Amino acid sequence: MTKTRREIVRGAAVAGAALGTVGAAQAQVGPKALFAPAITTIPIVGTTDVFAVRRIYCIGRNYEAHSREMGSDPTREPPFFFQKPRDAVQNVKIGEVAEHPYPSLTKNYHHEVELVAALKSGGRNIPADQALQHVFGYTVGLDMTRRDLQQAMGNEKKPWEIGKSFDMSAPMGPLHTVEQVGHFTKGAISLAVNDKVRQKADLSWMIWSVAEQIAHLSTAFELAAGDIIYSGTPDNVGPVVKGDVLLCKIEGLPDMSIKIA
Ligand code: MN
Repeated sequence: MTKTRREIVRGAAVAGAALGTVGAAQAQVGPKALFAPAITTIPIVGTTDVFAVRRIYCIGRNYEAHSREMGSDPTREPPFFFQKPRDAVQNVKIGEVAEHPYPSLTKNYHHEVELVAALKSGGRNIPADQALQHVFGYTVGLDMTRRDLQQAMGNEKKPWEIGKSFDMSAPMGPLHTVEQVGHFTKGAISLAVNDKVRQKADLSWMIWSVAEQIAHLSTAFELAAGDIIYSGTPDNVGPVVKGDVLLCKIEGLPDMSIKIA
């Protein structure tokens, strides 16, 4: 005998109930994501777990001397931020000199060494005095910059995107947890190109601390676990060419090194 539509539906419901919650969940996986992008992850020192990246925020002009070399007056400027796409991350292993491709379009490719903070939680309107409790860990990063394109766009009052937010523009070492290394409010930060020191400063010279950056960012965006923050570069940013080896140092973290290829 042919089943009515109602009987078929009722039969399916009973079968689903018999499977229990797990079976029901498996039976209703929802829409399938076509061409799903890979998640971007950063290794964590001391564990096989990895950190899944949600967003990459970068502060601009956060050291006085760098602000001046970029043509700004640091005493008059509130903090400002831009983003890189999360898949701009280039993971660099400890002890490795990672090959980093010279990008397209630029003739003035600049290094910016920076302390990077990674968040384990977030929220909106986070007070600065509670901000560091959201930090999972830290690493050394490079905010690689197509300076000619950034400046040309700035001169035309257009977005900087093409100068900052491109493939592989965010090389960084593996994360160290706060339990392992604590928080960074001071300590030497430097970058050498072919063994010649180009950038050298102290993290205490930041205009806006990591805690203040989190507080400011959280007024504009809801922060969340997986967000990472580039905390700004000292002065003496400058160009690199193919074959150059960059060595980045932050006191309390392992060195991070790339070779421009
Ligand atoms: Mn930067």
